[in-house]
Order: sequence, then structure tokens, then C-alpha cells
Amino acid sequence: MITRRRILALSLAAAVFFVVLFSSVFPSVQSHHVCTHHHCSTCERILLCEQTVHSLGDVAFFAAVLLVWVLFRFLCPSVFVEGKRIESLVTLRVKLSH
Ligand SMILES: [Zn+2]
Repeated sequence: MITRRRILALSLAAAVFFVVLFSSVFPSVQSHHVCTHHHCSTCERILLCEQTVHSLGDVAFFAAVLLVWVLFRFLCPSVFVEGKRIESLVTLRVKLSH
């Protein structure tokens, strides 16, 4: 079961990697194509690649923000304590007069 999940995760990562690679390389390779300026299929593909890279960039940004939030939430839980009073000698007003 774990092996199947790893294979699926690796396949998904490889698919995303190749989509990003193709979407990044194709516009630069086809930037000097002979354009007909009227429903040019190459220009439509270049636009689609740019939109794909832009969308994946947005997804990566939100995933990074979510990852940072989760890491702070579990590594620094004291930052997220709300309404819970942290007890110390000062907050308990303990006299140390002895
Ligand atoms: Zn074109």
C-alpha cells in the first residue's frame, strides 16, 4: 500500500515536473516562429504554456504559505495560543520576600 502511494506520488511529481519543464521551454524555443497573426496555433500554445506556468506558480506559492503555517503551528505552538494564560511567578504575583 505504501509502495503504491509512493509510486503515485512520484508519478504525480514527475508529471508536474515535465509540465513545468515543457511549459517553460516551449515559449522560448518557439519565440521566433513564423506567425500568421490570425488564430496562430503556436501563439495559442505559447499562451497556454504561460498560463500553466502562472497557475502552477500560484499553487506553489499557496502551498509554500500553507507549509510555513503548518510548520509554525506545530514547531512553535506557543505563538498560536489564544486566550490561554501562561502562568509564571510574575503572573501569579508570588512574593519572593524570604
Ligand atoms: Zn504565432
